[in-house]
Amino acid sequence: MALLITIGITADNRKRDAFVTNLMQKMTVEEKIGQLNLPDYGQFDTGISGRQDFMQLVSSGKCGGLFNLRGQDKIRELQQLAVEKTRLGIPLLFGLDIIHGFETTFPIPLAMACSWDMDGIRQAARIAAIEGSAEGLNWTFSPMVDICHDGRWGRVAEGAGEDPFLGSAVARATVEGYQGDMKRADQIAACVKHFALYGAAEAGRDYNTVDMSPVRMYNEYLPPYKAAFDAGALTAMSSFNTINCVPASGNRWLLTDLLRGEWGWKGMVVTDYNAPFEMVSHGMGTNAEVTVQSLKAGVDMDMADAAFLTHLKKELEEKRVAMADIDRACRRILELKYDMGLFADPYKYLKVKNPENMMCTKEHLQAARKMAAETFVLLKNEDNLLPLKKQGTIAVVGPLANTSTNMFGTWAVSVNREKHPAVTVLEGIRQAVGTLAEVLYAKGSNIYYDAKIEQNGNFRGGDLVRDERTAEELLQEAMDVAWKSDVIIAAVGETGEMSGEASSRSQLSTPDAQADLLKALKTLGKPIVVLYFTGRPVVLKWEQENVPAILNVWFGGSEAGHAIADVVFGDVSPSGKLTVSFPQNEGQLPYTYASLNTGRSGTGKWFSKFTSAYLDVSNDMLYPFGYGLSYTTFDYSPVKLDRQEMSEGQQLKASVVVTNTGTRAADEVVQLYIRDMVGSIARPVKELKGFRRIHLEPGESQNVTFDITEDLLKFYNADLKYVVEPGEFQVMIGRNSEEVSKASFEYKARRR
Ligand code: BGC
Repeated sequence: MALLITIGITADNRKRDAFVTNLMQKMTVEEKIGQLNLPDYGQFDTGISGRQDFMQLVSSGKCGGLFNLRGQDKIRELQQLAVEKTRLGIPLLFGLDIIHGFETTFPIPLAMACSWDMDGIRQAARIAAIEGSAEGLNWTFSPMVDICHDGRWGRVAEGAGEDPFLGSAVARATVEGYQGDMKRADQIAACVKHFALYGAAEAGRDYNTVDMSPVRMYNEYLPPYKAAFDAGALTAMSSFNTINCVPASGNRWLLTDLLRGEWGWKGMVVTDYNAPFEMVSHGMGTNAEVTVQSLKAGVDMDMADAAFLTHLKKELEEKRVAMADIDRACRRILELKYDMGLFADPYKYLKVKNPENMMCTKEHLQAARKMAAETFVLLKNEDNLLPLKKQGTIAVVGPLANTSTNMFGTWAVSVNREKHPAVTVLEGIRQAVGTLAEVLYAKGSNIYYDAKIEQNGNFRGGDLVRDERTAEELLQEAMDVAWKSDVIIAAVGETGEMSGEASSRSQLSTPDAQADLLKALKTLGKPIVVLYFTGRPVVLKWEQENVPAILNVWFGGSEAGHAIADVVFGDVSPSGKLTVSFPQNEGQLPYTYASLNTGRSGTGKWFSKFTSAYLDVSNDMLYPFGYGLSYTTFDYSPVKLDRQEMSEGQQLKASVVVTNTGTRAADEVVQLYIRDMVGSIARPVKELKGFRRIHLEPGESQNVTFDITEDLLKFYNADLKYVVEPGEFQVMIGRNSEEVSKASFEYKARRR
């Protein structure tokens, strides 16, 4: 079977090569350079777009695709122009940042990762592809697979969190969801971004320098990109940051030696927005010089800056680039279009009669609601305050309780927020209780006292407008409402745009005006449930110490309000588990649970002199990686291994019995961690190597077994060889990265 598939692909590739070669023989230099250009159509603000005459650009063959546009008619008109009015009729790519849904908006990617539900994530991507392609789009700039250890970086919202194993699984599922086998007209090309290491920006400041050892790069940051490529991702986006002091978009080691050489990936590389020209600010030379550097490094298409279009012809004439470089890039773009089926049928993606009927269908919204509920992480639930009963008087307060546009979170550019509004917290709760309880509402505060800081984090505006009443008036109204109620639900935290691109924060605790609101509410002595909105790991130390129940709801998308009500009133038990650790304070960042021991790690629990510790805070996280509570309780048996030794070529089984010891049916995410006790390089104290999402009825038990294969024990050594080394390994299974039970085995290599 495998052989047949290989032969099939080879035959297909031969046909494609012949087709592309034949086409390129007919192309002028200008036509080839035109293919390398990807202008921003400018309908959505995702960069610094300038207006151009797009009809003219397309009809003169000066672009290979366009992005940031919507509407089947518009896309058809442009495709027709390319196919019917240009000399060679080469079809266009139409791209957009379809990041967590198109019209049906799913939770932000970080939230979806916290569901640990790969089928759900695959389905979310599939639905996004169905809706986006119905309008003629054929390319999404997703998945974003950058690993991040520093919650100050706002773009942590767009990825899967801090862990490469989970990040790889999410990357694969997302690519599969978008692309499938790329045979159907509702499957679109994925773009793996931002290649590479963008999530390690120093100090969590966006676009900042990245610098790391090759060993960490290979073991901790590169795996999700590789996983996405291995899953067949057709395109990749080169990132803004430097690697080894060379910007990624001009980094030949990255884009050619590693990507093409070592990994053998054959897809097409587009730059991030304006990235080649930004290399001028990096100090890499003039516009013309950085253009040459990008092309030679391995970039195929440049986004938004028209660097190739403007400079390549002259650089070719003056022999600073070779025709072979331009041909290589052009070939990859044409191969992509061929693989997408655009030459066979340029109108493949323009066949849906009424695209509007494909948007936000009942089925899509149901999937979004289910996924949203799975992403919520119950951080605290003293005396089982949650779930609430639908009775009495419920106060819903907070500046995020009655906003629809904010529920979408960052990078939801395509959704028509008027036509397909998201369900607010207030609406969700009101609908859920109907006439069974009275719901009172007050805003309580603005986001921040300082209007300018609030504005910085509310770039797209929407219905989250600043309340011009005084802080005292706002607070008094909330206190009155809360006083009349039996329980308070406080919807607070970040606005949707306080995370995402160019949304770094230096302080991660609750914004001042909202923190004061919570403090004031606490004085009433009533039960408080905090619904925390965030796109990043935040600092919730005060909340943990002062309020009984905290449900972290991220940004849940179209159905957020309903999903929140589902969980708040117990129709669904929360099952989300953090895929980023939540620190006690910002000074602990960057952080990963999969850290290396130092020579002086101490207990880590509290300060002791001459250990790797802080004077003023323990090394513990407030909520560790993998953490999340449930409405039920789960009991874990000790880990059992089916043998104590594993020889080369073998595998062993590690298992636990998990029992639902509570009274509610619920899902649980069982996590497997492994530690390599002794290695040729220092190895992390634990690394996630498996997980299983299970459903248990009250009283039900399940035996959860993981196969421990050699592959799970491998790592990149100091020579960047992927190896497994003999010696002791510790296996840990549990409900989060801290609460695990352990067993050990010996891995033995064959004598040579
Ligand atoms: C972002 C990318 C995005 C691109 C196009 C850039 O600013 O970094 O993630 O795909 O814009 O909108």
